[in-house]
Amino acid sequence: MNKKTVRDLNFTGKRVLMRVDFNVPLKSGVIQDDVRIRAALPTINYVLEQKPKYLILMSHLGDPKKDAQKAREKAEKDGKPFDEVKFIEGKCKMKPIVERLSSLLGKPVKLAPAAIGAETKAMVDSLKDGEILMLENTRFHKEEQGKEAADRERMAKELASFGDVYVNDAFGSAHRAHASTETVAKFLPAVGGFLMEKELEYLGKAVSNPARPYVAVMGGAKISDKIEVIRNLMSKVDALLIGGGMMFTFYKAQGFEIGKSLLEADKVDLAKSILEEAKAKNIRLLLPTDTVIGDKFDNAAATNTVKVNQIPAGWMGLDIGPETIRVFSDEIRKAKTVVWNGPMGVFEMSNFAKGTMAVAQALSEATKSGAITVVGGGDSASAIAQAGLDKAVSHVSTGGGASLEFLEGKVLPGVAALNDK
Ligand code: AMP
Repeated sequence: MNKKTVRDLNFTGKRVLMRVDFNVPLKSGVIQDDVRIRAALPTINYVLEQKPKYLILMSHLGDPKKDAQKAREKAEKDGKPFDEVKFIEGKCKMKPIVERLSSLLGKPVKLAPAAIGAETKAMVDSLKDGEILMLENTRFHKEEQGKEAADRERMAKELASFGDVYVNDAFGSAHRAHASTETVAKFLPAVGGFLMEKELEYLGKAVSNPARPYVAVMGGAKISDKIEVIRNLMSKVDALLIGGGMMFTFYKAQGFEIGKSLLEADKVDLAKSILEEAKAKNIRLLLPTDTVIGDKFDNAAATNTVKVNQIPAGWMGLDIGPETIRVFSDEIRKAKTVVWNGPMGVFEMSNFAKGTMAVAQALSEATKSGAITVVGGGDSASAIAQAGLDKAVSHVSTGGGASLEFLEGKVLPGVAALNDK
């Protein structure tokens, strides 16, 4: 990458401020998956080995206001009581993260009461040589995501006053121009960490000068989330394979009966225009030819496998079928670059996980034959872990939204803000 990294700085005796992405899934204060914490360890250890004056870590963790609002609405709908303080405690507070980090590092990690403010400043000022301090969730301060640049700057300046240098290893948050991810880089020497570098290296291989054939596999629930990526990849790949819930909007656009399958009714025209564009430009856009259907959205549903134009009324498509698995797997195995984002079906239910697991398997086989294979974050990352194949592909991204925006061809503000090489 053309940005400076931790290798370009000396940290000995320095006050180091590092943005990490510890936005891990939490259930009532219990960490469900610590991949993102582990992914930041190489950079943290590299800095600590150089004996900095101290290391301050910061991250967001959920979005307290938004998450609480959603949870409140759900509780109201279900007629259940809702305790906002308890909810935020279990979902957005850094305590469990700090405990896990401390045990992974084998070192004590202190926790500040907030990301900024007088109490936090006093705690920072009292840090002893070599100590590690985690700031509380940056999103407890509205300035972090402030719409006004002046608000973000105010917070960023306060954060910058804690350090002599700024390291950003939070690839998963790099698509956000927030105080702790972007603005703070204006006020300190700013470099990327190893995770940031690795993510950009692998995703970069897919974006510029990919080895061919280059195949992209897109799935997941919604076209609307992935439309820009599909548009951008269409002109670059040798084949674009589309599965998951979004395929049904494409079928609707072709006039098929899709029963009760997932449909984004307001995206049918968009799907139509994508199909027309693919045809006009001779792009190999492959949609499934068969689908596994269920009579309800349940692992215990009655199932059947049908051609995509034969979905009976009242049934829903929940996975790609065996014929599609064969075709998609062949395409993937022949590829030299593969990008995958989004499951092929409802992989959380074992009866509808076959398509997703087969794609994971095909990616691992392509990797063995020398292909560069990159899995976008979020659901595809959990799916490949579920298949036990996360080590069998070139790279599993820690950033869902960030990896999608990178593949869309967008500049990530958190990366742009770092010092140029
Ligand atoms: P996304 O967040 O858009 O990548 O969507 C991921 C979700 O899409 C997963 O939770 C899947 O269960 C869901 N999904 C995939 N295929 C289908 C389908 N055919 N019908 C309903 N949901 C689906």
